[in-house]
Amino acid sequence: MTDLIRLTAAEIAAKVASGELTAVEVTEAHLARIEAVDEKVHAFLHVDREGALAQARAVDEKRARGEELGPLAGVPLALKDIFTTKGIPTTVGSKILEGWIPPYDATLTQRLRDADVIVLGKTNMDEFAMGSSTENSAYGPTGNPWDLTRIPGGSGGGSAASLASFQAPLAIGTDTGGSIRQPAAVTGTVGVKPTYGAVSRYGMVAFSSSLDQGGPCARTVLDAALLHGVIAGHDPLDSTSIDAPVPAVVEAARNGSVQGMRVGVVKEFAGEGYQVGVMQRFEESVELLRELGAEVVEISCPSFDKALAAYYLIAPSECSSNLARFDAMRYGLRVGDDGTKSAEDVTALTRAEGFGAEVKRRIMLGTYALSSGYYDAYYGSAQKVRTLITRDFEKAFEQVDVLVSPTTPTTAFPIGERADDPMAMYLADLCTIPANLAGNAAMSLPCGLAPEDGLPVGLQIIAPAMADDRLYRVGAAVEAALTERWGHPLIEEAPSL
Ligand code: GLN
Repeated sequence: MTDLIRLTAAEIAAKVASGELTAVEVTEAHLARIEAVDEKVHAFLHVDREGALAQARAVDEKRARGEELGPLAGVPLALKDIFTTKGIPTTVGSKILEGWIPPYDATLTQRLRDADVIVLGKTNMDEFAMGSSTENSAYGPTGNPWDLTRIPGGSGGGSAASLASFQAPLAIGTDTGGSIRQPAAVTGTVGVKPTYGAVSRYGMVAFSSSLDQGGPCARTVLDAALLHGVIAGHDPLDSTSIDAPVPAVVEAARNGSVQGMRVGVVKEFAGEGYQVGVMQRFEESVELLRELGAEVVEISCPSFDKALAAYYLIAPSECSSNLARFDAMRYGLRVGDDGTKSAEDVTALTRAEGFGAEVKRRIMLGTYALSSGYYDAYYGSAQKVRTLITRDFEKAFEQVDVLVSPTTPTTAFPIGERADDPMAMYLADLCTIPANLAGNAAMSLPCGLAPEDGLPVGLQIIAPAMADDRLYRVGAAVEAALTERWGHPLIEEAPSL
C-alpha cells in the first residue's frame, strides 16, 4: 500500500495546491489500489479510469497556468451510482437502468467537477437505495473491508467500503433512512446526512423525495466537512433546496469542542436488540463527552418507537410513485418489444424483469398504502406519526444542543444473514430514521471497535435542521479525543485485504 492512499483529503488538497504532489500521481495511486483490491471488495460498479486521469491532468495544467484551484483540487472521490454523470453509466444498482448513459450531470456531480474533485467511478448500492446491506444490488454484493464475509451496510455500502479499503479518500452517499450513516458505522468511517434540502437532489435518482438527502462520506470529520462545503448550497433546479447560507461546517470541524454544550442521550435507543459491545462503546463516548466539558442529560423522545413503522409506509408510498417513471419507454431496459405486444405489456414485462424483489415489495406496499380506502389508515397515520417525531425533536432541542445515540444496534452482520428477512434488515435503521422523517442533520463517526467481534461501532450525533455545523464541532472533538485514546480505527488499524 503506498502512502498516497493513506492521506486524508485535506492533506491531498494541500499537497496538490503546493505542488508537492500532482493530481495525476494521486489519481494513479488510487486507480492502482482499485485494481489491486476491488475484485475482492466490489465497491465500484464502474471505474472511469480515462475520465479520472483526464480530469487530473486538467487540474495539474490549471495549477501550472497559475489559475486558482478548487477547494478539493486533485482529491479522488467515489460517487454513489445514484447521481447522474454525463456520458458515464448510472444504474442505481438496478437492472432496469442497465446500459443507460445519462445525458446530463446531477447538480452534485457538477459541483464536484467545479471543485476540481477527481471522480474515480460509481459505487455499488442496494437497488434504488432500498436496503441496509448492499445485498439488494442487481450487480452482486459488496464486502466489508474489515471482514469480507460481512455486509458494508447499505444502501451506500460501495461508497463506505471504498473509503475503508483506501480506494478513495472521499465518497458520496445518499441517506433516505440511514444509507450514509449506517454504512459509515459498520465500516469505521464518517458519514453525514445534511439537513434536508441542503444538498441538491437534481439528478439524484428519486427513491422517497421527502426523505432523500445526499451527503459526504470520508475517513475523518474534517474531510467530511470539506466535502460538505463543496456539495451543499442552494440550487434553483431543486424546488426543495434551501435558499440560505450553508452553515460554517469547515470552521466547526477545525475547531472541535463540546465545552459548555448540552448533549442529550436518546433514552429510547437502548435495550433489547442492542449489541453489548455497541452499547459499551456508546456509553464510553457519552462519558468522554462529559470529560470534554459537555453537560449530558437523558432525553425521552416517545414517538421514536413508531419511526420505523411510519418510515416503511411513507418511503414505499413515495417510491411507488417515483418508480412509475420506469416504464420501458423512457430509460434503460425494454423487454418484449417484438412488435406483437401492447405498450402496457412491454411496460409490465420490463418492470417484472428489471426490478428486484425488495423494490417490488416496496412498490406493492406503497401502492396499497396509498389506495383509496386505506390511505387514511396507513399513509395518513404515518404522516401524523411523522409530525409527532418532529415535535419530539423540537422539544428535545429546547433542552439540548445535540442528541447522541448509537448509529446502529449492531456491528456489521454476515452477508446472507438477513437477506431473506426484510424485517430484520429494516431494524438496522432503527436509530437513523427519525432524523430523516424530521429533516434534521445527523452524523455517524467511529467510536471504537466492539470488544466481542473487533468490528467498528458508530456514534450518531443529531443536530437541529440548519445547525449542521454542530455535528462537526462535536464530531471533531470526539474524534480527536478518541484518536488520542486508542488511535484512529481506520488510519492506525487498517483492515487487511
Ligand atoms: N435501509 C433503509 C431502506 O431500506 C434506508 C435506505 C436509505 O437510506 N436509502 O429504506
